[in-house]
Amino acid sequence: MTDLVLLAPLPGWVTPLDEVPDDVFAGRMLGDGLAIDPTGGTLSAPCDGLLTAVPETAHAVTIRTESGTEILLHVGIDTVALKGAGFTALVRAGQAVRAGEPLIRFDLDRLARNAKSLVTPVIVTEPERFRIVERHATGPLRTGDPLMTVRDTGAAAAGVAGDDAGAAVTDLLVVPLPHGLHARPAAMLAQSLKSLNAEVSLSLRDRTANARSAVALLALGARHGDRLLLRASGVDAAMTRAALERAFERALAQGGGAAAAQRPSSAPATTAPGELGGVGATAGLALGVAARVARAEPVVTERGSGPHQELQRLDEARDRLRKRLARLAPGDGARAAIVGAHLEFLDDPELLAAAHKQIAEDRSAGFAWRAAVRDAVRLLESLDDAHLAARIDDLRDLELQLLEMLAGSAEAAATKLPERAILIARDLLPSQFLALDAARVAGICTVSRAATSHVAILAGAMGLPMLTGVDNRLLAIADGTPLLLDADRGRVTIGPGAGQVAKAEERIAERARIQARLRTSAAFDCRTADGERIEVYANVGSVAEAAAAVTSGAEGCGLLRTEFLFLDRAEPPDREEQTRQYQQIVEAFAGRPVVVRTLDAGGDKAIPFLIMPPQDNPALGLRGIRASLWRPELLRAQLEAILAVRPAGRCRILLPMVNEVAEIQAVRGIIEELAAASRGSVRIPLGIMIETPASAVNAARLARHADFLSIGTNDLTQYVLAVDRTHPLLAAELDAVHPAVLRLIGDVCSAARAAGRGVAVCGGLASDPAAAPLLVGLGVGELSAVPAMIPAVKDTVRRYTLAQCRDLARAALELDTAPAVRALLAEFAVGERP
Ligand code: PEP
Ligand code: MG
Repeated sequence: MTDLVLLAPLPGWVTPLDEVPDDVFAGRMLGDGLAIDPTGGTLSAPCDGLLTAVPETAHAVTIRTESGTEILLHVGIDTVALKGAGFTALVRAGQAVRAGEPLIRFDLDRLARNAKSLVTPVIVTEPERFRIVERHATGPLRTGDPLMTVRDTGAAAAGVAGDDAGAAVTDLLVVPLPHGLHARPAAMLAQSLKSLNAEVSLSLRDRTANARSAVALLALGARHGDRLLLRASGVDAAMTRAALERAFERALAQGGGAAAAQRPSSAPATTAPGELGGVGATAGLALGVAARVARAEPVVTERGSGPHQELQRLDEARDRLRKRLARLAPGDGARAAIVGAHLEFLDDPELLAAAHKQIAEDRSAGFAWRAAVRDAVRLLESLDDAHLAARIDDLRDLELQLLEMLAGSAEAAATKLPERAILIARDLLPSQFLALDAARVAGICTVSRAATSHVAILAGAMGLPMLTGVDNRLLAIADGTPLLLDADRGRVTIGPGAGQVAKAEERIAERARIQARLRTSAAFDCRTADGERIEVYANVGSVAEAAAAVTSGAEGCGLLRTEFLFLDRAEPPDREEQTRQYQQIVEAFAGRPVVVRTLDAGGDKAIPFLIMPPQDNPALGLRGIRASLWRPELLRAQLEAILAVRPAGRCRILLPMVNEVAEIQAVRGIIEELAAASRGSVRIPLGIMIETPASAVNAARLARHADFLSIGTNDLTQYVLAVDRTHPLLAAELDAVHPAVLRLIGDVCSAARAAGRGVAVCGGLASDPAAAPLLVGLGVGELSAVPAMIPAVKDTVRRYTLAQCRDLARAALELDTAPAVRALLAEFAVGERP
């Protein structure tokens, strides 16, 4: 037994943990210890050891001693929410430190104003083994005074059994998702750990989950704002927090609340006779006929034909199902995400372990799978959480799909639909919906009210109205009965009268007319009022968006964000897979040019298959072209994939975050090498993004080496103004019409013109119709916008002459602030139309 004396890491007043205003610490969920109410702003090491975690937010550190004691120092309470404001890390994870060495400096006054409490817990995270045998009594202390003595009792560690080869990490993660940790994010979290070698668990209150199991994560029942205790051990333990945080960010970016935002009515509407009320899950109106969608449950026998054979049947059925799921979701973002969650459940280690156990006890594969899934469902149901209960659909869906596979009845389950079918179902499982002929579906009504369900997300993406939570009488409606589904008003009318039908037809036709008008004018070339040609391209990140872009009048793709194509991958996509995706996008653009940007990893964009080393400041770290040159084998595979797209030369290549001529030369070298190896003769234009102040100021030099320039106003603005583009409190400060940014855009245009190069803008400013005349006036010849904004951007450009746009730009450059430029744009829109 050895004793370790921990020294006070801060000057201040010692307080028992029970008095910490936070039940995670006071309840000793993270371990045992003491807290200090600090009177100074430097946190120092309480002992010699290795720093196992120093988060980017620098509000806490964990240190591990040679004997394995792990100590967590957490400055203040809920300070993670400050996102690093007021904290400076003086050390980094992986570093060895000596007792008394300064670790973090923090602004005591700022924290006192912004944090819930300054009290700083000092926690021994494995109290079963490392027992505190002596504590300093309450009262004042100076840094370095003895704080407590910890004894290594040698008792087995509780919690996660880990790989001792690496450092252990204990940390807190806050659930940022408005709907809590539901199926999709749970699957994304589990997947984010795939390439890491670490044992990882997440705990909430008295529940602990293996973080690699989406089912186990769901069972935590974690809601928005819940704090999860992360424990990780193993070689890659230090990277698990970053991987999980990025999975949360991706889940948020993929619309944690998207379905809720589309929901037009939140309570069942009051209805007239012949009408049933419900809750609109997506907006819209449809006339059609009832089509009941039901599903027979396959018969399952309990006894199997021996463990070996049943295991084989289960594996074969899982294989077939995997292939079928892949067929159901070719390319499309929303579909792919949902099917991805099903695939994740299909390989869930806990579900499989439970099924294997049953099979070992002589049960059939079907019986074992059903029992395993139902146990998981029961566990989730017992949590009595509406959001979580809605996710149970996914598991039940997968249960049925696999049983159908085992019974060989999967394809027979597909329903034949009439034209303009309004689907009627108790609840509609995503796989049922995906198997239907979408072209025949006009709308959806369900009894079940899983408002955030995957089917609602799919329906929203397809523009189908959907009503949920409808009375049971819905199921008594005979197939073929005429229906009027009004999801905007939350009702479905059974056998609507002629007057109602006429009015509904009018409303549907009016919507279609408005859309058609916009589409028609968007289909034409865009010129200013005096005939100057301005090209309007689209930014896309999926095949589905590419198709939408063409319908919206895009003249090509000005920015394909390739990182968005492979967000759900734990492994890098191989060359063939990439070529397939790029080829599909090129085909969707039907002969129009496509600018493919190489992977823009890092910064605010986490790529699951490209785990970065911990970076104190990712926006200034390995990102964009730097990250690609750091992993040249990935860059090479990507360039090869782009060059393999046919017809040759349809793709142009764009490099993100370029600063240096050498970066362009390095990539050009690889392209030339690849082209020579494949005897390709077509020269592919190679462009660069202007996103950093250095590249904007040096545009004239860079333009000599690049074939075209594309200004990324999102990043350029963040770096010019030194305002983090993801900072929630600074969103209002981040306006790309700031005169400093406009001046750089103007300079880049002049430099490019002198070098005979074209300039596009593909950042967010190009999707802002109000800014379009300003950009044209600054000399921009191509705008690449999000597909939905293309009609409005074209419409605005057409209203003004080039001279008017130039006058506007000159006036904007005379102003001091972004709000002043905004006011000028508003005035211009009202007063200057020809
Ligand atoms: C930009 O920075 O403006 C840009 C288009 O790139 P992204 O938003 O993908 O970083
Ligand atoms: Mg960018």
